[in-house]
Amino acid sequence: MAEKTIMLGDGRSPPPPIPSVLEQPTGVLGDALGRPLHDLRISVTDRCNFRCVYCMPKEVFDKDYAYLPHSSLLSFEEITRVARLFVAHGVEKIRLTGGEPLLRKHLESLVEMLAGLRTPAGRKPDLTLTTNGSLLARKARSLRDAGLDRVTVSLDALDDATFKRMNDVDFAVADVLAGIEAAHAAGLGPIKVNMVVKGGMNDQEILPMARHFKGSPAILRFIEYMDVGASNGWNLDEVIPSSEVVRRIGAEMPLVALPANYSGETAARWRYADGVGEIGLISSVTQAFCQDCSRARLSTEGKLFTCLFATGGHDLRALLREGRTDAEVSSAIAQLWRVRADRYSETRTINTSGLQRGARKVEMSYIGG
Ligand code: SAM
Ligand code: SF4
Ligand code: SF4
Repeated sequence: MAEKTIMLGDGRSPPPPIPSVLEQPTGVLGDALGRPLHDLRISVTDRCNFRCVYCMPKEVFDKDYAYLPHSSLLSFEEITRVARLFVAHGVEKIRLTGGEPLLRKHLESLVEMLAGLRTPAGRKPDLTLTTNGSLLARKARSLRDAGLDRVTVSLDALDDATFKRMNDVDFAVADVLAGIEAAHAAGLGPIKVNMVVKGGMNDQEILPMARHFKGSPAILRFIEYMDVGASNGWNLDEVIPSSEVVRRIGAEMPLVALPANYSGETAARWRYADGVGEIGLISSVTQAFCQDCSRARLSTEGKLFTCLFATGGHDLRALLREGRTDAEVSSAIAQLWRVRADRYSETRTINTSGLQRGARKVEMSYIGG
């Protein structure tokens, strides 16, 4: 069985060194492979009210699972401080995630604080959130009022029985659809809907989902089931390649490939040939997009990860709590990004994947998807 907790404070995420010469941020920061620092994903909680089989399976995330104590979490002030330093380095897009981000109390206050940040060019960074939608109907309006720009909602099936098997907590599809409606009404669009396709579990829902969202204001994106973390028992046989998703939908509703909107876009876009709508495909297993990956991830307790598949992070919280100055923390971040050479998905093989028992990658619910 997979290990129950992610080892924290075990030497895998030491605080980053402070460079001896401090530097001023210039708004442009490239890594060792020339990739700019452009996006920041912030996990605001490691808890979730769902137990999706591919993310927080019940057998691992049970009542004895050791979640982080509140004192370990970055406070809203700490998150905003770190985000401000990242924005000064060129981050233009901030995504709140988790765990389930809407479980974090008073999240609107954090959104309001982040909405006050400005890029070196004086723009408000794009502020988005990924949610399972369970609390969205209640919170969409207040999040919008606080300054949230958009939401991505995860939904893995339209059929209730299938969806309940995926979320494993008996949550109904209608409630997520109500959340999507509320988000749309509140102006949090264009809404993206993420469907993780797990072969043998919900792949029969590809077509019903495509039919349902075709022509709606929401853009449906199919995500290949990834070998993230160490607890979901990932198996390559359960990955449905995006090419197969396109084949199945295209056989009924012809599709045409679209060019990318911008470099670093993770989803390949296809539009329906009849002009009514589009879909996205996120193929992190069969078509890695590491070469354009411009994302940094901040875990719930303030560890910086430069790749979703990293086995260790860099403890920024330690720097904040030992009273380091902005210039020191900012210079440490710059130094880390400059040497970043991660490209896990491109180099993934059977030997390095989650198939290997010894793999100790961090969980998605902790690092933030
Ligand atoms: N709880 C929120 C949600 O579900 O939208 C936010 C966090 S969740 C970790 C972020 C995204 O990661 C979701 O769209 C989820 O479906 C996706 N995800 C989680 N585990 C995955 C896996 N093993 N492979 C592919 N996507 C995964
Ligand atoms: Fe929770 Fe999101 Fe993971 Fe599902 S994918 S268990 S909703 S964090
Ligand atoms: Fe980015 Fe790592 Fe994913 Fe490659 S594997 S796209 S470097 S997060």
